[in-house]
Amino acid sequence: MRSTLLRKVWDLHTVRRLPSGQTQLLIGLHLVHEVTSPQAFDMLRLRGRRVAFPDRTFATVDHIVPTDGQPRPFADELAEQMMAALERNCREFGVPLFDLSSDDQGIVHVIGPELGLTQPGMTIACGDSHTSTHGAFGAVAFGIGTSQVRDVLASQCLAMEPLKVRRIIVDGALDPGVYAKDVILAIIRRLGVQGGVGFAYEYAGPVIERMTMDERMTVCNMSIEGGARAGYVNPDETTVGYLRGRRFAPAGEAFDRAAAWWRSIASDPGAAYDDEVRVDGTAVRPMVTWGTNPGQSAGVDERVPGPADVADADRAAVADALAYMDLEPGSRIAGTKVNVAFIGSCTNGRLSDLQEAARVVRGRRIAAHVRGLVVPGSRRVRDAAEREGLHEVFLEAGFEWRQAGCSMCLAMNPDRLEGRELCASSSNRNFKGRQGSPTGRTLLMSPAMVAAAAVAGEVTDVRLLLSRSEAS
Ligand code: SF4
Repeated sequence: MRSTLLRKVWDLHTVRRLPSGQTQLLIGLHLVHEVTSPQAFDMLRLRGRRVAFPDRTFATVDHIVPTDGQPRPFADELAEQMMAALERNCREFGVPLFDLSSDDQGIVHVIGPELGLTQPGMTIACGDSHTSTHGAFGAVAFGIGTSQVRDVLASQCLAMEPLKVRRIIVDGALDPGVYAKDVILAIIRRLGVQGGVGFAYEYAGPVIERMTMDERMTVCNMSIEGGARAGYVNPDETTVGYLRGRRFAPAGEAFDRAAAWWRSIASDPGAAYDDEVRVDGTAVRPMVTWGTNPGQSAGVDERVPGPADVADADRAAVADALAYMDLEPGSRIAGTKVNVAFIGSCTNGRLSDLQEAARVVRGRRIAAHVRGLVVPGSRRVRDAAEREGLHEVFLEAGFEWRQAGCSMCLAMNPDRLEGRELCASSSNRNFKGRQGSPTGRTLLMSPAMVAAAAVAGEVTDVRLLLSRSEAS
């Protein structure tokens, strides 16, 4: 029978159906970080339990780490406590930890793929919403809460509601200067931030098939922002090529056997979907959010809508968002002055993101009133970028070049907005107060668009800068 990847992976990992209607799913890989794990380990300790599969559990430190030098103890006492708790828990429970002394440290959704821990056909869980990132490999990956982290540590299982599958086909081709971030922002704008509730999103079509693994990760990362429980791309030769030679991927003949199985778990041609949506990739332009959720976005050449332009049910939310963001209905989003430019996060902190941003800033200076931060997603990304000299490009342009971590995506470390600052950000959430200041404001966009905003000192169309670079 023809089936989707989600159904195949789900069935293969089903331990049993629960009386609640949920499925008890075996989890192939559990990724742990310092923020959502301390209480989970404490609960295990209280009940005298061990970690059921320490060889399927890996930990890293990312959310709280300072990125401007990392001497211990950290100046922030709470951060130091979280770090010390993770170290103690990993030692006591036998969980490998990529800590600050490890070349493999970085954001959990960056290091899993780059180490080859993330593989097609797996079920993956992590106590972070953006675990959907790993779906780029054809894994079924869930962000979970602390009590579920406890459950997975103790039993390697999760109780999960069954999911429907919506296939999102992105047709055509992207114009130069239009990126994976623009595609996913355009999808969320169209389907809404609640549109994916009860669904897993399967991304398909020529635009997705041509994407690199980094780009697919950007798309899958933000599935959760569209309300979907998970998002994935069927594994193909791009996936297999990315995984070959990675540290935790199979090697030799075992790799060839694994690759054959990975290809087999892709959705079958003619599989039935609960819903299907087509997006014209040719029409996607560089996107910028203007509101306080990732669905409130516009093309860089568009105007910000007003309450009168939207359905009755959305009017109050739009008015509230515009008031918070200090934007006039009907104004152009291009030309909005920015104070901070942040390039990083698990959405867009990978090497190709930094390469694209560097292409924009090379030979230019960021505006005098802009504070610019480039925060690689992992140590490996940082090292690779330095080998290419990207750090010099950013430093010469006036950006700060930081150590790896989540940084200003969530501002659980000292990298924060101040007051009403407006930040052009390559991260994934523009909620009120997300970047550290309770009144701070966030405009989500691609890393290249952030770089362009930093140079111009205001939101601008990156395609203008790219065409000027090519002409010079
Ligand atoms: S970069 Fe942001 S979204 Fe990603 S894991 Fe860190 S805090 Fe979460």
